[in-house]
Amino acid sequence: MISPKTIDDVRDLPVEQVIGRYVDLKKSGSGYKACCPLHNEKTPSFNVVPAKNIFKCFGCGAGGDAIAFVMAHDNLPFYEAVKSIAGQHGIEVEETGEAPTPEQKTEHENQLTALHQAQERYRNSLILNS
Ligand SMILES: [Zn+2]
Repeated sequence: MISPKTIDDVRDLPVEQVIGRYVDLKKSGSGYKACCPLHNEKTPSFNVVPAKNIFKCFGCGAGGDAIAFVMAHDNLPFYEAVKSIAGQHGIEVEETGEAPTPEQKTEHENQLTALHQAQERYRNSLILNS
């Protein structure tokens, strides 16, 4: 597992910097345009919107953040895409390890307890009302 902090750091990268490593972006208004690398086209319908930190292709409908772009472009699962971007931009990848932390465990148990209590209350109210 990659730590949420690493994922946040990768999400905070300017989308045009991440995609700019894959695609030759041309400045267009407040954003950038290019021929979409995800489908074949001759006129650019691939837009990068720095204000929203997303990309959007009006040709094939692909869109999302920088991580979504790398997932689609390199055909990678989410965590591999995060690692790939982190590597390209000098972000240190923090691994949290497979096992949940004691805090996460407690959190999970609390959720289960709350769920059981809710079920219990629901059952009781059914019995009382019938
Ligand atoms: Zn496209």
